[in-house]
Amino acid sequence: MTTTESIATKGQTTARSEASPLTPRSTPDLDAPALVAELRTTFASGTTKSIAWRKGQLKALRRMLVEREDDILNALASDLGKPNIEAFVTEIAFVLTEIAVALKNLDRWVRPEKVRIPATQLPGKGRIYRDPLGVVLVIGPWNYPVQLLLAPIVGAIAAGNCVVLKPSEVSPTVSATLSAIIPQYLDNSALRVVEGAIPETTALLAQRWDHIFYTGHGSTGRIVMAAAAKNLTPVTLELGGKSPTYVDASANLTVAAKRIAWGKFLNAGQTCVAPDYVLVHRSVEAELLKKLQEAVTQMYGVNTQETPDFARIVDSRHFIRVSALLDGEGAGTPFFGGERDASDCFISPTVLVGTDPESKVMQDEIFGPLLPVLAVDGVEEAIAFINNRDKPLALYVFAEDKQIAERVLDSTSSGGACINGTLFQLVPPTLPFGGVGESGQGAYHGRSTFETFSHHKSVLKKTTRLDPPIAYPPYTERKKKILRRFL
Ligand code: NAD
Repeated sequence: MTTTESIATKGQTTARSEASPLTPRSTPDLDAPALVAELRTTFASGTTKSIAWRKGQLKALRRMLVEREDDILNALASDLGKPNIEAFVTEIAFVLTEIAVALKNLDRWVRPEKVRIPATQLPGKGRIYRDPLGVVLVIGPWNYPVQLLLAPIVGAIAAGNCVVLKPSEVSPTVSATLSAIIPQYLDNSALRVVEGAIPETTALLAQRWDHIFYTGHGSTGRIVMAAAAKNLTPVTLELGGKSPTYVDASANLTVAAKRIAWGKFLNAGQTCVAPDYVLVHRSVEAELLKKLQEAVTQMYGVNTQETPDFARIVDSRHFIRVSALLDGEGAGTPFFGGERDASDCFISPTVLVGTDPESKVMQDEIFGPLLPVLAVDGVEEAIAFINNRDKPLALYVFAEDKQIAERVLDSTSSGGACINGTLFQLVPPTLPFGGVGESGQGAYHGRSTFETFSHHKSVLKKTTRLDPPIAYPPYTERKKKILRRFL
């Protein structure tokens, strides 16, 4: 029997369970100091520095994703009702691409980088070495629990580190599945999974790490950063926030509606870069609303609870949270949607109109399938609205007028942005992905992940063949004159 065969699943992909039969698994016998000490011994042995080891582990990770695809997809269906294809593309295929990029480029990435040096240091050579950091901690969230735990470790392994992975307890089936299969494929002396919730994460955070990579909410991000500060441990914080979308009067409304609806309702809105709300030019508001409804009907049908292509809210705690936003004062009224079924953690794709900008649904990150659409009188009002709030993780502009798009990019600050699309900015491995301000710090994907988990060691190589006395005391007026000419 596979790890997840016995687990009933959410949504329509397989039989729907009332509640996941798995409770968050804890690690009562976790000895965090001993675990870290063990991995430090492995790191000190030099095993993980070998390029052959790194490539071998990346290939093993790839083999795991291919051979255990069904186990992983079943776990994702169980925890989030993730549609099969959606889960494959956004979780498994995403990590496979990261592995392919790392395997293809690793020899080049690890080569000391040649840099120019000033004439005063000639003859000599300037080089930047990429050293592994050591023993690192990767803490994942529940919304893309495979991608967001494994994509960081692709770079951590490629850079030659030992890693402890902490999957989220909120997606317990994925957590249990990964903790069961990872040791079957990866080198257990260097890569470990620790399951559990706050007590385990707290115990892990109390250790000295060489880097902590955290994905999740900013409130926990602050706890992570405070714990890291005690040991001067560098952190990457991949956080969330309210990502705005501006739809200009010049926009292609049919395409905009489809791309906004897709980006918003994918994974039932539980995507860190989902368009959180829409600011639409008043002159095209009615048309956009109509097209959003058409797009949702086209993608999910009329009865969205029946379709196998729409995910579920992860658990009843988050169902209650999103419901409260929908019911909250000033949330506005559904232009369409608003249906709920607590027993299935189901909330239908919902577009809200008449939303008060000061309401809770416009203050908290929604992280669910609710999309407030607010009319503005033009791009300047949209820019002022966005700049009045925390810096978002993503920003979307739909406009055929290129100057409008540039104006928004130029006048706002966000982790990333996409013009005439949503979420796609995550796809090219050449584009570093990360937040700014409240939406996080640091970036990854492709080479950036490797760089995040590497120390950039500057090395100057000198020759002893020449040793001019000019730099040494005694300092003389003549030396000063010559030095002034060179420096
Ligand atoms: P979560 O509750 O699963 O927390 C993430 C991790 O933090 C878990 O492993 C959990 O055990 C740990 N944790 C939670 N509370 C803790 C505490 N008090 N002390 C120590 N550890 C603790 O996930 P979440 O935070 O609900 O995730 C959703 C948030 O993550 C959203 O804000 C979303 O926007 C953001 N997010 C960001 C990205 C990104 O790439 N920037 C991706 C996905 C999600």
